Amino acid sequence: MSFDLAARLAARRAEHLYRQRPLLESPQGPQVVVDGQPLLAFCNNDYLGLANHPQVIEAWRAGASRWGVGGGASHLVIGHSTPHHALEEALAELTGRPRALLFTTGYMANLGAVTALVGQGDTVLEDRLNHASLLDAGLLSGARFNRYLHNDAASLAKRLEKATGNTLVVTDGVFSMDGDVADLPALARETKARGAWLMVDDAHGFGPLGANGGGLVEHFGLGLEDVPVLVGTLGKAFGTAGAFVAGSEDLIESLIQFARPYIYTTSQPPALACATLKSLELLRSEYWRREHLASLIRQFRQGAEQIGLELMDSFTPIQPIMVGDSARAVRLSQKLRERGVMVSAIRPPTVPAGSARLRVTLSAAHSEAQVQLLLSALADCFSELQAEPSHA
Ligand SMILES: *Cc1c(COP(=O)(O)O)cnc(C)c1O
Repeated sequence: MSFDLAARLAARRAEHLYRQRPLLESPQGPQVVVDGQPLLAFCNNDYLGLANHPQVIEAWRAGASRWGVGGGASHLVIGHSTPHHALEEALAELTGRPRALLFTTGYMANLGAVTALVGQGDTVLEDRLNHASLLDAGLLSGARFNRYLHNDAASLAKRLEKATGNTLVVTDGVFSMDGDVADLPALARETKARGAWLMVDDAHGFGPLGANGGGLVEHFGLGLEDVPVLVGTLGKAFGTAGAFVAGSEDLIESLIQFARPYIYTTSQPPALACATLKSLELLRSEYWRREHLASLIRQFRQGAEQIGLELMDSFTPIQPIMVGDSARAVRLSQKLRERGVMVSAIRPPTVPAGSARLRVTLSAAHSEAQVQLLLSALADCFSELQAEPSHA
Protein backbone atom coordinates (compact mmCIF):
# COMPACT_ATOMS: atom_id res chain seq x y z
CA MET A 1 0.00 0.00 0.00
CA SER A 2 1.17 3.49 -0.69
CA PHE A 3 -0.19 6.95 -1.07
CA ASP A 4 -0.19 7.79 -4.76
CA LEU A 5 0.02 11.51 -4.27
CA ALA A 6 1.55 12.15 -7.68
CA ALA A 7 -1.50 10.64 -9.42
CA ARG A 8 -3.89 12.68 -7.27
CA LEU A 9 -2.01 15.86 -8.06
CA ALA A 10 -1.92 15.06 -11.79
CA ALA A 11 -5.68 14.44 -11.81
CA ARG A 12 -6.26 17.78 -10.13
CA ARG A 13 -4.10 19.52 -12.71
CA ALA A 14 -6.03 17.83 -15.54
CA GLU A 15 -9.30 19.16 -14.14
CA HIS A 16 -7.96 22.73 -14.09
CA LEU A 17 -8.42 22.70 -10.33
CA TYR A 18 -4.79 22.84 -9.28
CA ARG A 19 -4.19 25.59 -6.76
CA GLN A 20 -1.11 27.71 -6.33
CA ARG A 21 -0.28 30.38 -3.82
CA PRO A 22 0.57 33.76 -5.29
CA LEU A 23 3.49 35.23 -3.33
CA LEU A 24 2.62 38.68 -1.95
CA GLU A 25 5.76 40.78 -1.72
CA SER A 26 4.19 43.99 -0.40
CA PRO A 27 1.70 44.97 2.29
CA GLN A 28 -1.97 44.35 1.56
CA GLY A 29 -3.64 47.13 -0.44
CA PRO A 30 -4.87 48.09 -3.91
CA GLN A 31 -1.31 48.28 -5.32
CA VAL A 32 0.58 45.11 -4.55
CA VAL A 33 3.60 43.22 -5.79
CA VAL A 34 2.84 39.56 -6.51
CA ASP A 35 5.47 37.11 -7.76
CA GLY A 36 7.65 40.05 -8.69
CA GLN A 37 4.92 41.83 -10.66
CA PRO A 38 3.26 45.12 -9.62
CA LEU A 39 -0.51 44.63 -9.77
CA LEU A 40 -3.74 46.44 -9.04
CA ALA A 41 -5.55 43.92 -6.86
CA PHE A 42 -9.27 43.26 -6.37
CA CYS A 43 -9.13 40.11 -4.33
CA ASN A 44 -8.51 40.72 -0.65
CA ASN A 45 -11.15 40.92 2.07
CA ASP A 46 -9.73 44.11 3.58
CA TYR A 47 -13.01 45.87 2.80
CA LEU A 48 -12.33 49.02 4.80
CA GLY A 49 -8.65 49.30 3.99
CA LEU A 50 -7.56 48.87 7.61
CA ALA A 51 -4.99 46.05 7.21
CA ASN A 52 -2.23 48.56 6.57
CA HIS A 53 -3.66 51.61 8.37
CA PRO A 54 -0.95 53.66 10.14
CA GLN A 55 -2.97 54.01 13.34
CA VAL A 56 -3.71 50.28 13.50
CA ILE A 57 -0.03 49.53 12.96
CA GLU A 58 0.89 52.00 15.69
CA ALA A 59 -1.64 50.44 18.09
CA TRP A 60 -0.06 47.03 17.43
CA ARG A 61 3.42 48.45 18.03
CA ALA A 62 2.39 50.17 21.26
CA GLY A 63 0.57 47.00 22.32
CA ALA A 64 3.70 44.92 21.77
CA SER A 65 5.78 47.35 23.84
CA ARG A 66 3.29 47.21 26.71
CA TRP A 67 2.15 43.55 26.58
CA GLY A 68 4.89 41.68 24.71
CA VAL A 69 4.37 39.59 21.61
CA GLY A 70 2.98 36.23 22.68
CA GLY A 71 -0.30 35.24 24.37
CA GLY A 72 1.81 32.80 26.39
CA ALA A 73 -0.94 30.36 27.42
CA SER A 74 -4.55 29.44 26.76
CA HIS A 75 -7.29 31.76 28.03
CA LEU A 76 -8.23 29.40 30.87
CA VAL A 77 -4.68 29.08 32.17
CA ILE A 78 -3.07 32.53 32.16
CA GLY A 79 -3.38 33.77 28.57
CA HIS A 80 -6.52 35.92 28.96
CA SER A 81 -5.11 39.40 29.24
CA THR A 82 -6.52 42.91 29.67
CA PRO A 83 -6.52 43.79 25.92
CA HIS A 84 -8.40 40.54 25.10
CA HIS A 85 -10.95 41.39 27.74
CA ALA A 86 -11.35 44.99 26.55
CA LEU A 87 -11.80 43.77 22.97
CA GLU A 88 -14.53 41.33 24.05
CA GLU A 89 -16.36 44.18 25.74
CA ALA A 90 -16.06 46.38 22.65
CA LEU A 91 -17.35 43.55 20.43
CA ALA A 92 -20.32 42.97 22.75
CA GLU A 93 -21.11 46.66 22.40
CA LEU A 94 -20.75 46.62 18.59
CA THR A 95 -23.08 43.64 18.28
CA GLY A 96 -25.53 44.78 20.96
CA ARG A 97 -25.16 41.41 22.65
CA PRO A 98 -24.59 40.84 26.40
CA ARG A 99 -21.21 39.23 25.81
CA ALA A 100 -18.65 38.27 23.18
CA LEU A 101 -15.87 35.67 23.24
CA LEU A 102 -12.64 36.02 21.31
CA PHE A 103 -11.33 33.11 19.20
CA THR A 104 -8.01 32.78 17.38
CA THR A 105 -9.58 32.34 13.92
CA GLY A 106 -13.02 32.24 12.37
CA TYR A 107 -12.52 28.60 11.48
CA MET A 108 -12.02 27.80 15.14
CA ALA A 109 -14.91 29.99 16.30
CA ASN A 110 -17.24 28.02 14.03
CA LEU A 111 -15.88 24.62 15.06
CA GLY A 112 -16.06 25.68 18.69
CA ALA A 113 -19.58 27.08 18.68
CA VAL A 114 -21.25 24.29 16.71
CA THR A 115 -19.55 21.40 18.51
CA ALA A 116 -20.25 22.95 21.92
CA LEU A 117 -23.96 23.37 21.14
CA VAL A 118 -24.95 20.14 19.37
CA GLY A 119 -23.83 16.53 19.40
CA GLN A 120 -25.20 13.01 18.98
CA GLY A 121 -29.00 12.95 19.04
CA ASP A 122 -29.20 16.60 17.94
CA THR A 123 -29.65 18.17 14.51
CA VAL A 124 -27.68 20.75 12.57
CA LEU A 125 -29.20 22.30 9.44
CA GLU A 126 -27.02 24.35 7.11
CA ASP A 127 -27.39 26.40 3.96
CA ARG A 128 -25.81 24.38 1.17
CA LEU A 129 -23.53 27.30 0.23
CA ASN A 130 -22.19 27.85 3.76
CA HIS A 131 -18.50 28.50 4.30
CA ALA A 132 -16.39 25.31 4.55
CA SER A 133 -15.66 25.94 8.23
CA LEU A 134 -19.39 25.79 9.05
CA LEU A 135 -19.90 22.60 7.07
CA ASP A 136 -16.86 21.01 8.71
CA ALA A 137 -18.16 22.09 12.12
CA GLY A 138 -21.53 20.45 11.45
CA LEU A 139 -19.92 17.18 10.39
CA LEU A 140 -17.51 17.18 13.32
CA SER A 141 -20.30 17.78 15.85
CA GLY A 142 -21.74 14.27 15.39
CA ALA A 143 -25.26 15.74 15.19
CA ARG A 144 -27.60 14.73 12.34
CA PHE A 145 -26.40 16.93 9.51
CA ASN A 146 -28.58 18.19 6.70
CA ARG A 147 -28.29 20.95 4.11
CA TYR A 148 -31.21 23.06 2.92
CA LEU A 149 -31.49 24.85 -0.45
CA HIS A 150 -29.56 28.08 -0.66
CA ASN A 151 -31.26 30.86 1.28
CA ASP A 152 -34.59 29.05 1.11
CA ALA A 153 -36.71 29.35 4.27
CA ALA A 154 -39.33 26.89 2.92
CA SER A 155 -36.66 24.25 2.34
CA LEU A 156 -35.38 24.90 5.85
CA ALA A 157 -38.91 24.61 7.29
CA LYS A 158 -39.32 21.12 5.76
CA ARG A 159 -36.12 19.93 7.37
CA LEU A 160 -37.01 21.53 10.69
CA GLU A 161 -40.18 19.41 10.80
CA LYS A 162 -38.05 16.25 10.87
CA ALA A 163 -35.39 17.57 13.23
CA THR A 164 -34.76 15.81 16.53
CA GLY A 165 -32.98 16.93 19.68
CA ASN A 166 -31.51 20.39 20.06
CA THR A 167 -31.55 21.92 16.60
CA LEU A 168 -29.08 24.49 15.32
CA VAL A 169 -29.69 26.28 12.03
CA VAL A 170 -26.47 27.67 10.60
CA THR A 171 -25.96 30.21 7.84
CA ASP A 172 -23.44 32.65 6.44
CA GLY A 173 -24.67 36.27 6.75
CA VAL A 174 -23.07 37.57 3.58
CA PHE A 175 -22.23 34.51 1.45
CA SER A 176 -18.50 34.54 0.91
CA MET A 177 -18.38 33.36 -2.72
CA ASP A 178 -21.62 34.90 -4.02
CA GLY A 179 -21.86 38.17 -2.09
CA ASP A 180 -25.62 37.78 -1.61
CA VAL A 181 -27.10 38.00 1.87
CA ALA A 182 -29.10 35.50 3.90
CA ASP A 183 -32.80 36.27 4.32
CA LEU A 184 -32.32 36.38 8.08
CA PRO A 185 -35.82 37.57 9.05
CA ALA A 186 -37.41 34.58 7.27
CA LEU A 187 -34.83 32.10 8.54
CA ALA A 188 -35.21 33.45 12.09
CA ARG A 189 -39.02 33.13 11.89
CA GLU A 190 -38.92 29.46 10.84
CA THR A 191 -36.20 28.65 13.32
CA LYS A 192 -37.96 30.27 16.29
CA ALA A 193 -41.29 28.71 15.37
CA ARG A 194 -39.68 25.28 15.85
CA GLY A 195 -37.86 26.14 19.05
CA ALA A 196 -34.50 25.83 17.26
CA TRP A 197 -31.56 28.25 17.37
CA LEU A 198 -30.14 30.32 14.53
CA MET A 199 -26.37 30.80 14.21
CA VAL A 200 -25.14 33.42 11.74
CA ASP A 201 -21.52 33.69 10.59
CA ASP A 202 -21.26 37.23 9.27
CA ALA A 203 -17.54 37.25 8.47
CA HIS A 204 -18.10 39.50 5.44
CA GLY A 205 -20.92 41.66 6.79
CA PHE A 206 -19.23 43.18 9.84
CA GLY A 207 -17.74 46.51 8.81
CA PRO A 208 -19.44 47.19 5.46
CA LEU A 209 -23.07 46.45 6.46
CA GLY A 210 -25.39 47.87 9.12
CA ALA A 211 -25.79 51.49 10.22
CA ASN A 212 -22.80 51.21 12.58
CA GLY A 213 -20.89 48.45 10.81
CA GLY A 214 -22.62 45.83 12.95
CA GLY A 215 -23.21 43.65 9.89
CA LEU A 216 -26.27 41.95 8.48
CA VAL A 217 -27.94 41.43 11.85
CA GLU A 218 -27.84 45.17 12.41
CA HIS A 219 -28.99 45.76 8.81
CA PHE A 220 -32.14 43.72 9.55
CA GLY A 221 -32.45 44.91 13.16
CA LEU A 222 -32.41 41.39 14.61
CA GLY A 223 -31.90 40.81 18.33
CA LEU A 224 -30.69 38.01 20.54
CA GLU A 225 -34.02 36.11 20.31
CA ASP A 226 -33.77 36.02 16.51
CA VAL A 227 -30.06 35.24 16.26
CA PRO A 228 -28.86 33.70 19.54
CA VAL A 229 -25.41 32.82 18.11
CA LEU A 230 -23.59 35.50 16.13
CA VAL A 231 -20.10 34.96 14.71
CA GLY A 232 -17.81 37.60 13.23
CA THR A 233 -14.22 37.51 12.07
CA LEU A 234 -11.55 40.16 12.49
CA GLY A 235 -9.29 39.32 9.54
CA LYS A 236 -11.61 40.82 6.94
CA ALA A 237 -13.08 44.32 7.28
CA PHE A 238 -11.34 44.90 10.62
CA GLY A 239 -8.00 44.30 8.94
CA THR A 240 -6.37 42.26 11.73
CA ALA A 241 -6.96 38.61 12.71
CA GLY A 242 -9.12 36.48 14.97
CA ALA A 243 -12.84 36.06 15.43
CA PHE A 244 -15.61 36.22 17.99
CA VAL A 245 -18.90 34.67 19.02
CA ALA A 246 -21.47 37.07 20.52
CA GLY A 247 -24.58 36.09 22.47
CA SER A 248 -26.10 35.61 25.89
CA GLU A 249 -24.24 35.27 29.17
CA ASP A 250 -25.12 31.55 29.26
CA LEU A 251 -23.95 31.00 25.68
CA ILE A 252 -20.55 32.56 26.30
CA GLU A 253 -20.09 30.74 29.62
CA SER A 254 -20.99 27.46 27.86
CA LEU A 255 -18.40 28.09 25.16
CA ILE A 256 -15.76 28.80 27.81
CA GLN A 257 -16.63 25.43 29.43
CA PHE A 258 -17.19 23.25 26.37
CA ALA A 259 -15.75 24.72 23.13
CA ARG A 260 -12.59 22.70 22.61
CA PRO A 261 -11.10 25.02 19.92
CA TYR A 262 -11.43 27.79 22.52
CA ILE A 263 -9.99 25.86 25.44
CA TYR A 264 -7.08 24.00 23.89
CA THR A 265 -5.24 26.75 22.12
CA THR A 266 -2.99 29.66 22.98
CA SER A 267 -4.68 33.05 23.15
CA GLN A 268 -3.96 35.43 20.29
CA PRO A 269 -1.15 37.94 20.92
CA PRO A 270 -2.54 40.67 23.19
CA ALA A 271 -0.99 43.33 20.92
CA LEU A 272 -3.23 42.03 18.14
CA ALA A 273 -6.25 42.76 20.34
CA CYS A 274 -4.85 46.31 20.81
CA ALA A 275 -4.73 46.70 17.01
CA THR A 276 -8.29 45.42 16.59
CA LEU A 277 -9.53 47.85 19.26
CA LYS A 278 -8.08 50.62 17.11
CA SER A 279 -9.85 49.23 14.02
CA LEU A 280 -13.15 49.33 15.91
CA GLU A 281 -12.49 52.95 16.81
CA LEU A 282 -11.72 53.81 13.16
CA LEU A 283 -14.94 52.10 12.06
CA ARG A 284 -16.71 54.92 13.92
CA SER A 285 -14.35 57.88 13.42
CA GLU A 286 -13.62 57.28 9.72
CA TYR A 287 -17.18 56.76 8.59
CA TRP A 288 -16.20 57.95 5.11
CA ARG A 289 -14.65 54.52 4.49
CA ARG A 290 -18.06 52.87 4.50
CA GLU A 291 -19.61 55.56 2.31
CA HIS A 292 -16.76 55.47 -0.18
CA LEU A 293 -16.96 51.68 -0.38
CA ALA A 294 -20.71 51.86 -1.04
CA SER A 295 -20.14 54.32 -3.87
CA LEU A 296 -17.43 52.10 -5.44
CA ILE A 297 -19.85 49.15 -5.34
CA ARG A 298 -22.47 51.20 -7.23
CA GLN A 299 -19.85 52.37 -9.74
CA PHE A 300 -18.64 48.82 -10.37
CA ARG A 301 -22.13 47.34 -10.83
CA GLN A 302 -23.23 50.07 -13.24
CA GLY A 303 -20.05 49.78 -15.28
CA ALA A 304 -20.12 45.98 -15.37
CA GLU A 305 -23.74 45.93 -16.50
CA GLN A 306 -22.89 48.32 -19.32
CA ILE A 307 -20.18 45.92 -20.52
CA GLY A 308 -22.71 43.10 -20.34
CA LEU A 309 -21.03 41.04 -17.61
CA GLU A 310 -23.10 38.55 -15.63
CA LEU A 311 -23.13 39.86 -12.07
CA MET A 312 -24.70 38.17 -9.08
CA ASP A 313 -27.37 39.48 -6.72
CA SER A 314 -25.09 41.39 -4.36
CA PHE A 315 -24.98 44.83 -2.74
CA THR A 316 -21.90 43.88 -0.74
CA PRO A 317 -18.17 44.39 -1.51
CA ILE A 318 -18.12 40.83 -2.93
CA GLN A 319 -19.02 41.19 -6.63
CA PRO A 320 -18.53 37.91 -8.49
CA ILE A 321 -18.70 37.74 -12.26
CA MET A 322 -20.19 34.41 -13.33
CA VAL A 323 -18.13 32.53 -15.90
CA GLY A 324 -19.21 28.87 -15.52
CA ASP A 325 -16.33 26.88 -16.96
CA SER A 326 -13.21 26.55 -14.74
CA ALA A 327 -10.68 26.75 -17.57
CA ARG A 328 -12.34 29.90 -18.92
CA ALA A 329 -12.32 31.52 -15.49
CA VAL A 330 -8.63 30.77 -15.09
CA ARG A 331 -7.90 32.09 -18.59
CA LEU A 332 -9.71 35.35 -17.83
CA SER A 333 -7.85 35.74 -14.57
CA GLN A 334 -4.53 35.21 -16.44
CA LYS A 335 -5.48 37.75 -19.10
CA LEU A 336 -6.34 40.34 -16.46
CA ARG A 337 -3.04 39.65 -14.78
CA GLU A 338 -1.17 40.28 -18.05
CA ARG A 339 -2.82 43.70 -17.97
CA GLY A 340 -1.65 44.33 -14.41
CA VAL A 341 -4.98 43.57 -12.72
CA MET A 342 -5.41 40.80 -10.18
CA VAL A 343 -8.80 39.14 -9.71
CA SER A 344 -9.04 35.55 -8.48
CA ALA A 345 -10.77 32.78 -10.35
CA ILE A 346 -12.86 30.76 -7.90
CA ARG A 347 -13.43 27.17 -8.93
CA PRO A 348 -15.01 24.00 -7.58
CA PRO A 349 -14.91 22.59 -4.97
CA THR A 350 -15.01 26.04 -3.36
CA VAL A 351 -18.13 26.75 -5.47
CA PRO A 352 -20.59 24.25 -7.05
CA ALA A 353 -19.52 22.49 -10.27
CA GLY A 354 -20.07 24.58 -13.40
CA SER A 355 -20.19 27.86 -11.50
CA ALA A 356 -16.58 29.03 -11.71
CA ARG A 357 -16.34 32.79 -11.46
CA LEU A 358 -14.12 35.79 -11.12
CA ARG A 359 -14.48 37.03 -7.59
CA VAL A 360 -14.01 40.79 -7.50
CA THR A 361 -13.79 42.32 -4.06
CA LEU A 362 -13.82 46.05 -3.50
CA SER A 363 -12.23 47.99 -0.67
CA ALA A 364 -12.48 51.51 0.70
CA ALA A 365 -8.77 51.70 -0.12
CA HIS A 366 -9.58 51.62 -3.86
CA SER A 367 -10.13 54.86 -5.79
CA GLU A 368 -12.80 55.53 -8.40
CA ALA A 369 -10.04 55.66 -11.05
CA GLN A 370 -8.86 52.18 -10.01
CA VAL A 371 -12.35 50.75 -10.34
CA GLN A 372 -12.55 52.35 -13.80
CA LEU A 373 -9.27 50.63 -14.73
CA LEU A 374 -10.70 47.32 -13.61
CA LEU A 375 -13.80 47.84 -15.75
CA SER A 376 -11.76 48.66 -18.86
CA ALA A 377 -9.53 45.63 -18.31
CA LEU A 378 -12.58 43.39 -17.88
CA ALA A 379 -14.16 44.73 -21.08
CA ASP A 380 -10.94 44.03 -23.03
CA CYS A 381 -10.38 40.55 -21.61
CA PHE A 382 -13.95 39.34 -22.11
CA SER A 383 -14.02 40.49 -25.73
CA GLU A 384 -10.58 38.95 -26.40
CA LEU A 385 -11.70 35.64 -24.97
CA GLN A 386 -14.83 35.72 -27.10
CA ALA A 387 -12.60 36.01 -30.19
CA GLU A 388 -10.40 33.05 -29.18
CA PRO A 389 -11.24 29.56 -30.43
CA SER A 390 -12.55 27.62 -27.44
CA HIS A 391 -10.21 24.91 -26.19
CA ALA A 392 -12.43 22.55 -24.27
C1 LIG B 1 -13.07 33.80 6.17
C2 LIG B 1 -14.25 33.12 6.73
C3 LIG B 1 -14.14 32.33 7.88
C4 LIG B 1 -12.81 31.99 8.49
O1 LIG B 1 -12.32 33.03 9.24
P1 LIG B 1 -10.76 33.06 9.55
O2 LIG B 1 -10.63 34.01 10.67
O3 LIG B 1 -10.09 33.52 8.31
O4 LIG B 1 -10.37 31.67 9.93
C5 LIG B 1 -15.29 31.81 8.44
N1 LIG B 1 -16.49 32.03 7.88
C6 LIG B 1 -16.63 32.76 6.74
C7 LIG B 1 -17.99 32.96 6.18
C8 LIG B 1 -15.51 33.31 6.14
O5 LIG B 1 -15.64 34.00 5.01
